[in-house]
Amino acid sequence: MKIGQFIRTKWQSFRAWQENPISYQKDKHWHVCHNCGHRFVGNYCPVCSQSARHGRITWPAIWQGIGQLWGIESRSALFTLWQLLWRPGYLVRDFISGKRQISYPPVKLLVILAALFALVHYFFPVPDPAPSDTGVHYIDFAFDWMDRHQNIGELLGRCFFILPTWLLFRKAPGYPNHTIPEGFFLQVYIAILAYIVQAPFANPNLFTILLTAVYGYATYKQLFGYGYWQTLWRWIVCTVLSLAALLMIVILAVLVDKLSI
Ligand SMILES: [Zn+2]
Repeated sequence: MKIGQFIRTKWQSFRAWQENPISYQKDKHWHVCHNCGHRFVGNYCPVCSQSARHGRITWPAIWQGIGQLWGIESRSALFTLWQLLWRPGYLVRDFISGKRQISYPPVKLLVILAALFALVHYFFPVPDPAPSDTGVHYIDFAFDWMDRHQNIGELLGRCFFILPTWLLFRKAPGYPNHTIPEGFFLQVYIAILAYIVQAPFANPNLFTILLTAVYGYATYKQLFGYGYWQTLWRWIVCTVLSLAALLMIVILAVLVDKLSI
């Protein structure tokens, strides 16, 4: 097989996986439920809903038991992160359109990641970022708070994107008429991506900012299905509008700060 043809075949199967990573199969075998004793055909007991896979404790059950402590009940948390790295926009499309089983609950994932990284930073401490010193009390307070609560800070910042995204992308061919609640979950997923990209570093740097921007653009491109340029200008206008809204709040904080002196 020629190298060009080989790469083309691999690319096509990767694109097919991006569009649809899981095909569900119905289990056609008979099982006896280990929980309630009911005999059934399928993946789950129709009486008590226990999985047909659950039986006597095996070696993998130890890992699953420890995983449950962290709220990671199955492989789906890691699989969700894997999907987020390779098919972010399609994953968001699947989740918000009703395919809940394909993804680990995103808000829960953001909180668990924060706990995991807090644990890592406990053993491998990174220097605290320097306290904010803009001279405006409210802004210093907000910046310091966001440094200490990176995941929630990231999500709060991303919430400014919800309304501009709705304005600019609601007629998109790939996902028409998206709603504000759907827009919220889009930002949760992008916050997770931004958090993963930035977590290994003490402070945001040019690399993390660029990588986060590329991932944000790729997510919008895959989810909304506009062409490259159509996505780019909308995404840039969306970012400018969001930052303008953020700037207005900063100006308001400065005014309140000055008036209260
Ligand atoms: Zn049962």
